[in-house]
Amino acid sequence: KKYVYFFANGKAEGRADMKDILGGKGANLAEMTNLGIPVPPGFTISAEVCKYYYDHGRTYPEELKEQVEEAMRRLEEVTGKKFGDPNNPLLVSVRSGAAISMPGMMDTVLNLGLNDETVKGLAKLTNNERFAYDAYRRFLQMFGDVVLKIPHEKFEKALEELKKEKGVKLDTELDAEDLKKLVERYKQIYKEEGKEFPQDPWKQLWLAIDAVFGSWMNERAIKYRQIHGIKEGDLLGTAVNIVAMVFGNMGEDSGTGVAFTRDPNTGEKKPYGEFLPNAQGEDVVAGIRTPLKLEELKNRMPEVYNQLLEIMDKLEKHYRDMQDIEFTVERGKLYILQTRNGKRTSQAAIRIAVDMVHEGLITKEEAILRVRPEDVEQVLHPVFDPKEKAQAKVIAKGLPASPGAATGKVVFNAKKAEELGKAGEQVILVRPETSPEDVGGMAAAQGILTSRGGMTSHAAVVARGMGKPAVVGAESIEVHPEEGYFKVGDVVVKEGEWISIDGTTGEVLLGKVTTIKPQGLEGPVAELLQWADEIRRLGVRTNADIPRDAEVARKFGAEGIGLCRTEHMFFEKDRIPKVRRMILAKTKEEREKALDELLPLQKEDFKGLFRVMKGLPVTIRLIDPPLHEFLPQEDEQIKEVAEQMGVSFEELKNVVENLKELNPMLGHRGCRLTITYPEIAVMQTKAIIGAAIELKKEEGIDVIPEIMIPLVGHVNELRYLKKIIKETADALIKEAGVELTYKIGTMIEVPRAAVTAHQIAEEAEFFSFGTNDLTQMTFGFSRDDVGKFLPEYLEKGILEHDPFKTLDYDGVGELVRMGKEKGRSTRPDLKVGVCGEHGGDPRSILFFDKIGLDYVSCSPYRVPVARLAAAQAAL
Ligand code: PEP
Ligand code: MG
Repeated sequence: KKYVYFFANGKAEGRADMKDILGGKGANLAEMTNLGIPVPPGFTISAEVCKYYYDHGRTYPEELKEQVEEAMRRLEEVTGKKFGDPNNPLLVSVRSGAAISMPGMMDTVLNLGLNDETVKGLAKLTNNERFAYDAYRRFLQMFGDVVLKIPHEKFEKALEELKKEKGVKLDTELDAEDLKKLVERYKQIYKEEGKEFPQDPWKQLWLAIDAVFGSWMNERAIKYRQIHGIKEGDLLGTAVNIVAMVFGNMGEDSGTGVAFTRDPNTGEKKPYGEFLPNAQGEDVVAGIRTPLKLEELKNRMPEVYNQLLEIMDKLEKHYRDMQDIEFTVERGKLYILQTRNGKRTSQAAIRIAVDMVHEGLITKEEAILRVRPEDVEQVLHPVFDPKEKAQAKVIAKGLPASPGAATGKVVFNAKKAEELGKAGEQVILVRPETSPEDVGGMAAAQGILTSRGGMTSHAAVVARGMGKPAVVGAESIEVHPEEGYFKVGDVVVKEGEWISIDGTTGEVLLGKVTTIKPQGLEGPVAELLQWADEIRRLGVRTNADIPRDAEVARKFGAEGIGLCRTEHMFFEKDRIPKVRRMILAKTKEEREKALDELLPLQKEDFKGLFRVMKGLPVTIRLIDPPLHEFLPQEDEQIKEVAEQMGVSFEELKNVVENLKELNPMLGHRGCRLTITYPEIAVMQTKAIIGAAIELKKEEGIDVIPEIMIPLVGHVNELRYLKKIIKETADALIKEAGVELTYKIGTMIEVPRAAVTAHQIAEEAEFFSFGTNDLTQMTFGFSRDDVGKFLPEYLEKGILEHDPFKTLDYDGVGELVRMGKEKGRSTRPDLKVGVCGEHGGDPRSILFFDKIGLDYVSCSPYRVPVARLAAAQAAL
């Protein structure tokens, strides 16, 4: 079996599409060789050997030794040098390279083949003793560190000491004699560590090969694969690349550098990179000397520069993506050591993809698949200044509930956040959890941090709706609002002190970290999303409760409202007393009186929404949360509210106590409330239909309101409410003498509803899957308390994803699929959407597209993400 793939002089045995066995680096070296690009000759040992190595107790296939020896012979032939020959030594580099790039998994070993004899040959050959001994001491250092695991600080220390003795600052100030001395000291270090430096180059080579294959299972590599979701079995292992050395440190006509074909920060189409004269690769990485801008190469070696530009152009056109190229110049001759698709910022990713379509390099479809949904999200939210962030201390980590970076003074109380916010102060609202009462403070804050709750907790949902950064469920934080401080470990943060939160990563940082304004939906990203719209099948609506949010969503491309949570309007200052009066009402008449006062306000709300949506569909859900959420819970506040309402403390306290439930999320909420109090459904219907009628009459705007009933589990619940709603609506329409169509539908968020969807669809004119509650009830996980155990579930691999963020395909997803099928079996034209938080999650969107839903609905700031994800799903 063939395990070794040779490349030299314009001909290679491998190709770019052999990444699986040659690794990214090896495949690209082969490909570049075939393209006629000046690559130093060498060979790649296949990743299949790595697999064999671990399958067979760290041994190699029999054929390997001979194949490696044969490849070395060929390498000697094409270079005219000989491995281990003191007169004309061949030196090689040994590097790892898996099919997926894993930076830093293993360091490189350079200058392999040097020993006490060959170093002399190298000195003579290059007529440069200093260079030869510098190469030798570097090799001793790298070989010791990477292959024999001698702590590299030991070598660093010896180098520093020598420089001190000499009274010099830079490595380059050491002369040949110094470096010889250093070589001896390095050998001494080997001895002290009980390790032997092999003088035999073949021994060096095999030990280095062992080290590369061994590094596949080192802690760093395993961790890297874990973090990046690379599973065992995804890859065979790493390949090993053995390449003839070229030297960038042979004088001022030599050097080494990195070149990007486009600016990886902005995406601008212009060469970008760094160059370090008279240096080897690791000098650039080590940051000891400051590299020059790539353009400097133009002045120093114009021919090399021009050749490099030509190669960059050729490589980019060939790979049809921005390339990150490592190059070395040896005595005026350019060598390309590596090329790969360059890492880039989100902004650059979008710009490059769009530009490349205009340049005819890639198709629109390819551009859409290349940009990650997170990239689109990134350009819509502020980010931290990376330098400042790197220096800030991370004190806790919670769930990344709403993306973006925020910094501000800690405030523990929503009212105070509002006051300070109004006064122009930047604050972060820190709460154990939030409730509807806190919405004002949340709006005034830069960001929100809670110690409890999951991805669909109140804080998470509301923050996402506002496009505000939030970290929730940071369980390691103890919040003491009354005492005015929070505590993590032994760090205490008092009210008024600065913290920063990163809602994209879930990190909580101590102190103020500058944020950088988002770019917004202009320029290339707008164009990309337009292409996405041409391609996607799924509709994208938004979850919005107030006209301002709806407007943002429209700007971001929402095609309607998929969920208006009407109760959110009840918390406004002018409404909450009326809502409370309704709750306290002892008779139906009293309740209707309070509702009558709410009606005109709620009608105006809906008019506002309809106006913004200009005839697009608007789904309005009837009241959903348990009533206790509208009442104060602490005695202090109960006293205050009782006074305002003109009732006694005892009376209000009594009501509060009566409304308490052990499992409020499974309690008296959703349609159960309106079945008990149909007057509420009547009022809300009047407001919805009344708003539509008035808009039609006064402003000529046609709306098709969709009235949605939450938490239905049995068709009879729907039947009962539908009748009331219909009677109310039809009477209003008749009285107004207008033509108006409206729909009555339901949320599918109770498992029983999904199972009996065929019955429910006989009554429901549309379905909207409430995957938040459906996940809660399918798993039996309280959506507000998952923070207590979910992190462990993820860590221990019991669940792969947070099911409140990414739809559980097999369980909850199956209910959605089945619900849709059953629903359509009795009502073939049933419109089916999703309005749970999963509607804005790319992985979930993939599933919703596949099972044939009509649309997803998500918070305004996720609409662009959903548009892209829906297009990707369609491709
Ligand atoms: C849901 O349950 O998925 C839903 C959208 O409703 P809410 O989050 O308001 O319970
Ligand atoms: Mg729900």
